[in-house]
Amino acid sequence: MIEARVGPIFSDEILNAIRSVLDSGQFILGPEVRRFEKTWAEFCQSKEGVGVANGLDALEIGLRSVGVKKGDEVITTPMTAYATILAIHRVGATPVFADINSDTALMSLESAKRCVSKRTKAIILVHLYGRLDRLHEWRDFAESVGAQLLEDCSQAHGARWAGRAAGSFGTLGAFSLYPTKNLGALGDAGIIVTSSESIAQKARMLRNYGQSERYRHEAPGTNSRLDEIQAAILNVRLTRLSEENTKRQEIAAMYREGLQTCTPDLQVLKEPESSESHVYHQFVVTVGDRAKFLSHLISCGIKGDVHYPLAAHQQPAEIPYRRDRKGLKHAEWHSKHCVSLPVSPNLSWEQVNRVIDAVRSFKNSGM
Ligand SMILES: *Cc1c(COP(=O)(O)O)cnc(C)c1O
Repeated sequence: MIEARVGPIFSDEILNAIRSVLDSGQFILGPEVRRFEKTWAEFCQSKEGVGVANGLDALEIGLRSVGVKKGDEVITTPMTAYATILAIHRVGATPVFADINSDTALMSLESAKRCVSKRTKAIILVHLYGRLDRLHEWRDFAESVGAQLLEDCSQAHGARWAGRAAGSFGTLGAFSLYPTKNLGALGDAGIIVTSSESIAQKARMLRNYGQSERYRHEAPGTNSRLDEIQAAILNVRLTRLSEENTKRQEIAAMYREGLQTCTPDLQVLKEPESSESHVYHQFVVTVGDRAKFLSHLISCGIKGDVHYPLAAHQQPAEIPYRRDRKGLKHAEWHSKHCVSLPVSPNLSWEQVNRVIDAVRSFKNSGM
């Protein structure tokens, strides 16, 4: 079966990294974590990195660190991993859902503008599928309404917009380092990057019981510490990130080329502004009859995926919350028709061509 998966890659280096942590006898928030925080912050053109336990915590601690609290509103997109929304609830704030642009599936700036109220405290911009877009406009918009801009970079490790790294535009960037992400640990992990020392300090305190120093608790924090073994693995995997992102971009270019004169029913999302602005965590197409398309792929030995089958504002838990008064029709359409084709650095060119042939042989028009 051809599918996106984490390969058994450079395992000797990983095993050696793990072994040296075992030898060190230090397992939580030690030198490997500090090294990863420093390297990742530099890679993201930011001053500070704060390692945490997962992507949800990176967002939640990030929101708390910039002062978002009960009663505040946070504008975001419904086309995201549910964790983005959950983080807003976890700090007691309220999500407000904006629609997406149909050609990128990213949050629509025009729709977000309609969502602003007196209670708007922050905007979480999600770099969905690995794509950055209109970053300066988002920053200007957030500033003009007095809101904090947080970037959910969990799918966009290493993407750049006008030469600047994902995570360096907003007040902070939150990354999941879940195993299947472009940069992943071999377990749960996450990190916050920011150029604000005071925000980094607050995040460091919150991830470790709210301690400013040992046994002094400034705020009721949480336990969201990154462990040494995961950080050591990340330090190894980080050395391959750029190369792996390039491979993802090459696979995407082949898909684009191979699928341009496909069935009229099948649409590829818009080409990115520049190649560096999209690191293809996912390569997404939309198709009329998704169920039929997915089973056609399966019959060709290919596992497609769906990100995400239900827009977040349609989730039962989100029904009470405010949304763009004009409705979210693009998000609702996209969630019904999107399919992610396999993209991962360990796919062979032969496998990529087999995916293209399989998609091209789907003749059905389900519209
Ligand atoms: C994966 C992901 C998260 C959540 O990360 P976890 O590490 O699973 O908590 C949040 N936002 C987006 C956009 C993601 O893709």
